[in-house]
Order: sequence, then structure tokens, then C-alpha cells
Amino acid sequence: MTNATPSTIYGPVKSWRLGLSLGVDLLCVDSICSFECVYCQLGKINRVTTTRARFVSTAKVLEDLQKTDWQAADVITFSGSGEPTLAANLGEVVEEIKKLTRKPIVVLTNSALLHRNEVRREISQADKIFCKLDAWSDSALRRVDRPHESLSLSSIISGISELRREFKGFLAIQTMILKTPADAELEKLAKILQTTQPDEVQLNLPTRPVPHEYFLESRGNHVEFQNGFAQIRTITKDDLENVRRKLSELTKLPIITR
Ligand code: SF4
Repeated sequence: MTNATPSTIYGPVKSWRLGLSLGVDLLCVDSICSFECVYCQLGKINRVTTTRARFVSTAKVLEDLQKTDWQAADVITFSGSGEPTLAANLGEVVEEIKKLTRKPIVVLTNSALLHRNEVRREISQADKIFCKLDAWSDSALRRVDRPHESLSLSSIISGISELRREFKGFLAIQTMILKTPADAELEKLAKILQTTQPDEVQLNLPTRPVPHEYFLESRGNHVEFQNGFAQIRTITKDDLENVRRKLSELTKLPIITR
């Protein structure tokens, strides 16, 4: 690894859900994901792939971590410059950081690779897993998340369901709401949520700026709007609350909004 490789550790960022969260980025050589979500705060995904690889070494992550004040963090969160499960050393790094810090570990995933046994095995070492699920149909998936062509909604749902059966920790589903779903769409989403049985569903609005190009700082929570950044059009908080109430009635699951 060259000295030019940026730190794999970033933040800490203040998270409304997690407290002071120190970020781990196993992808920071570029923006790398199996999705290209229209609202992605990274701006542009330069490598769209479903192939796992070691982008940074485990030794470098541990070395970077030792240079930070990790003791002050409430949790350690794997997210960063794309989809953490694409890092072939995810399980290894989670294990090492847990051993070293004894802090709760959170992984944010887009759920695309959860149908693979080895990915579920690795991610299950975390304490909390937040699974993205933005769509109730393949067309909604293609419109909002713009996944790699090999991915389908059914494989994503079965991956989350399988993880739910195996994983004993806290599993939340995060759903980004861009517009108010029609009643038929809400019913489809409710059925999917009931199939996957998360501990919690978090409905979010895309409030973060979307840069045109990827730049490293966009992996944190503190990027301000600048010239040329896009603001995604979305619904009001009152409309979101209506969606939450309806979904809650349909699913009987704990559903929160920000
Ligand atoms: S899954 Fe996350 S990192 Fe990937 S494109 Fe969507 S928002 Fe960006």
C-alpha cells in the first residue's frame, strides 16, 4: 500500500441513531458499489461491481485506527466510499477491530450480496446491521438504486431474510423515500418488510447534497452544499409521517422516521 492511500478511518461523525460513530472505509481507493443510487452522497460511483476484492489491507486499517482517538467513539461503523461487503476482508477487519476496541460494530449494507453465504457469515460478526431496501418492485429498484445488472429485488429480499434467520444481533431496514408511494406500492413494501422481519424499519428522506463527482470527504456526514451539487426533490416530513403511520398499521413493525 502506498503512502498516498488515504486513511481508512474517518470521522467521528455524529449520528442521530448511533451517537459518536467512527467510520471505517475498506474501499477508499475509489467509490465502489454494486448500486448507483440517485441520491448517493458519494456523488458518483466510479466502479460498479459485484466482485469482492481486497482494496486496502487489514494491516493498514489497524494501523490507521491506532492513529485515531477511537476510545472516544460510541460505535465503529463500516460504511465509507461505497458498499462494505464488497471488501473481501470485511469479516477479518470486523473481527480484529472488535478484539482491539471492544466497541459495538455496525455495518451499513445495501443488501445486494447478502444472498451469498460467505458475506452473511462475515457481516454477522457485527452487533448491528442496517440493510438498505428502497424498492417494492424491480422497476423501482432500477429507477432508484440503479443496481449492477446481475442483481434483482428477489435475491436482495431472500438475502435479507436469510440473514434475519441467522443473525442474532440488531437488524434494521433503512428505506429511502423519494415520493409518496401509492397504496398498492405501500402494500407491496409492507409484505416485503413482513417477510424480512427486521427489529426496526427506518424511513429516511434524501437530505444530503449529491456531488457530481466522488471525492473522499463525501463519505462523512458534514459535506455542505456547494455550486454544482444536486439537491434531490423529496416529500415533506408530514408526508413521511403519513407513510410511516400507514406502513406501521400494515406491518405491525416498529417504524421510525428521522
Ligand atoms: S448503496 Fe450506498 S454507496 Fe452505494 S450507491 Fe447507494 S447510497 Fe451510494
